[in-house]
Amino acid sequence: MSAVMPNYGHPTVAFERGEGAYLFDTDGRRFLDFAAGIAVNSLGHSHPHLVAALTEQAGKLWHTSNLYAIPDQERLAERLCALSFADAAFFCNSGTEAMEGAVKAARRYHAVNGHPEKWRSITLQSSFHGRTLAMLSASKNPKHLDGFGDPADGFDIVPAHNMNALRDAITPETAAIVVEPIQGEGGLRPLEDDYLRDLRAAADEFGLLLVFDEVQTGFGRTGKLFAHEWAGVTPDVMGCAKGIAGGFPCGAVLATEAVAQAMTAGSHGSTFGGNPLAMAVANATLDILTGDGFLERVRESGAALKSGLEAIMERHGGVLDGVRGRGLMIGMVVKAPHTNAALGEAARENGLLTVVAGENVLRLLPPLIIGQTEIDEALDALDKACATLASGHG
Ligand SMILES: *Cc1c(COP(=O)(O)O)cnc(C)c1O
Repeated sequence: MSAVMPNYGHPTVAFERGEGAYLFDTDGRRFLDFAAGIAVNSLGHSHPHLVAALTEQAGKLWHTSNLYAIPDQERLAERLCALSFADAAFFCNSGTEAMEGAVKAARRYHAVNGHPEKWRSITLQSSFHGRTLAMLSASKNPKHLDGFGDPADGFDIVPAHNMNALRDAITPETAAIVVEPIQGEGGLRPLEDDYLRDLRAAADEFGLLLVFDEVQTGFGRTGKLFAHEWAGVTPDVMGCAKGIAGGFPCGAVLATEAVAQAMTAGSHGSTFGGNPLAMAVANATLDILTGDGFLERVRESGAALKSGLEAIMERHGGVLDGVRGRGLMIGMVVKAPHTNAALGEAARENGLLTVVAGENVLRLLPPLIIGQTEIDEALDALDKACATLASGHG
């Protein structure tokens, strides 16, 4: 067997180098990358500003641990707080760790405020919060739990867009409501703005914390720095990762002052979290994301891509059943008996990389730096891919 564990199957394509929105495989073939490492390479590949930040830091200092102050961590935290609802940040290395930290912070907030009995979280069906034992239990996806024993206690699942079910699930033990503003892995399902506002109101009414998982939606993906800005509601705690450092492993928990104060010295930690290398790249990524007109261009690109996809859907109504999402986080709903995997495969044969999601959805998560050329190229590849499926050869 391969020396790499088989949990990823055995991918056959390998890439050697990347440039902007393009990847080149080991045979030199060029692909337009609308997967972006699953919404991670927000600035594309080998962005000169990120390469410079990384290489400059690499020559100075990589890692010290949080036994010592890390000035770039302070700087990134201050910038993120200035740009968001948050008053403080904790840094870690991945999305699931960020969500674990977010849920821990929510539990800890109630405990230090005299309510240790409030420790449960309400989460949504079809959600995805990562692969640790606790976060698997938050989503309770049977496929992900299979063979890993009983799910950890502390998570109560309700259907999305049903406030009666949510209110019924609130008990004296409830600490938090935890949702993704757009469910990513579960099928690229946006939560309605009104629903997010209703969640905020319910959290306030019952003294719960509202926790957003913006691991996939954050850092410009939807055309706002954070997706919850579209709904005009703010959470108390938020987990981020994926696009935060353009491909360098990094995660963050952002929180209000009231929540952050509960995370007293020694209550939580990470050896690698927020190390100088990660912070240098994350700060450099934020330089670009907050540049003049950057997010506006993401919104324009998203609108152009979406309307092109809608035109493709008109032509291929037998293959596509819908187009949904915001900014550059777009899902194409594939009509059975066709499958998202077959459409993704056909797209790849036409030089375009995409990602599958639940509910037979094919996800487009391009780097945020794409322009009309890349959009036209992607639409052309997807049009051909749909035609292949429609002709029965997919
Ligand atoms: C990817 C993802 C995670 C998990 O992130 P990892 O870095 O893979 O641990 C959690 N929540 C959401 C919404 C995600 O998209």
